[in-house]
Amino acid sequence: MNIKRLVGYTLALLTVAGSAAWLLRAPLSMALAPKLAASRMAADGLNELPDGLHVGLCGAGSPMPDEERLGPCTLVVAGKRLFVFDAGNGAARNIGRMGFVHGRIEALFLTHFHSDHLDGLGELMLQRWVSTGNAAPLPVFGPLGVETVVAGFMQAYAQDQHYRVAHHGEQALPASGFGGVAQPFFTPTQGHVVLIKDADLEIAAFNVDHSPVHPAVGYSIRYKGRSVVLSGDTKKSAALQREAAGVDVLVHEALSAPMVALLAQAAADAGRVKLKKLMNDIVDYHSSPEQAAETARDAKVGYLLLNHIVPPLPMPGMEKAFLGATGEIYAGPMKVGRDGDFISLPAGSGSVLVGNRLR
Ligand SMILES: [Zn+2]
Ligand SMILES: [Zn+2]
Repeated sequence: MNIKRLVGYTLALLTVAGSAAWLLRAPLSMALAPKLAASRMAADGLNELPDGLHVGLCGAGSPMPDEERLGPCTLVVAGKRLFVFDAGNGAARNIGRMGFVHGRIEALFLTHFHSDHLDGLGELMLQRWVSTGNAAPLPVFGPLGVETVVAGFMQAYAQDQHYRVAHHGEQALPASGFGGVAQPFFTPTQGHVVLIKDADLEIAAFNVDHSPVHPAVGYSIRYKGRSVVLSGDTKKSAALQREAAGVDVLVHEALSAPMVALLAQAAADAGRVKLKKLMNDIVDYHSSPEQAAETARDAKVGYLLLNHIVPPLPMPGMEKAFLGATGEIYAGPMKVGRDGDFISLPAGSGSVLVGNRLR
C-alpha cells in the first residue's frame, strides 16, 4: 500500500471514530452524570482539610476583566470555620467551584466600599441562604458605612426573598435566613480592633491607606500559631507592615504601573481620553509588586501572595513581567495570584503547602 493510500485510510478511520465518539458523547456524559452530581452534592471542603489555617483566592482580580481572575475575594478556613473577605463579582461562583458550601460561611468581612469589592454580595448572600436553608442571615463585618451597603442589598433583594419563600415554603427556606446583618466596627488610628476572638482564633482589622477612600482596612487572622494578613486595597502602608510582622502568609494587592501606563497610552491612541485619565489616576492609591515585596521583606513574612492584580495578564509570560524587580527585593517565595490558589498552614507545624483548587 502506498503512503498516500495509507494516509487516506487513516483519515477515514479517524473520521468514523470521531463521528462515533460524537454520537456517543451525550449518552456517555449522562451515564456519568449521577456520579458527578452525587460527588458535587456531597463535597464540602471544610470536611477534607486538615486542622490549620488555610487561605484561598476566590477572586484574584480587579474591576478589569481577566480570564484567570474574577473580582476580589479571599476565603479563610480556620479549623472548621469558613470566612470570606470581600465579595467581588463572581465570588460565590468561585467559592462553589473551589468545593466549599456557601451555607457554611460563618461571616463576611469587607475591606472598603469600592464596588468591585462588594458587587458579588447579593449573589453570595443568596447562595448562603438557599444552599442549606440557613435560618440566620450572613453577618457582614465592615468599617462604619457597612450598614448602608447591607441595607441597600436587602432592599434590592426584598422581592426575591418574597418570591422564594412563597415558592419553596418557610420550612425549606426560612425568611429569617435571607440576606445579611451588618456588623459595623470602628478602627483606631493606631493599632487594630479585634472582631472575633476565642482560645484558637483571632480576627482583627486595621487601617490601611487607600486615600481618598475612607475607611479602608486590612485584616489579620491568627489560628493555633499560624497567621495570615490581608492587605485590602492600599498603597504602601506602615500599619500593614507592622501587622504583617512575621506572619506565615501576606496576601497583598498589586498594580503594575508600567503595564497600566501601556493601557493608558492605548486608550489615548484610541481617542478615549477620559479613560486614559482614569488609568493614570488609579496608580496613586495602590501598591506596585515591588512595594508589596518591600513590605514582605521588611515584615519578614513567610510567603507573599499577590492579589487584586491590575491590569489583567492575558498572555503567557506576563506574570513574570508583572513581578518586575520583586525577586531582587524579597527573597522568599511569592506568586502572582490566580483564582483558586490555596495555601494551607497546618496547625502544629511550620509548613506552607501551596496548591490550586480550580486546576
Ligand atoms: Zn479600592
Ligand atoms: Zn479594589
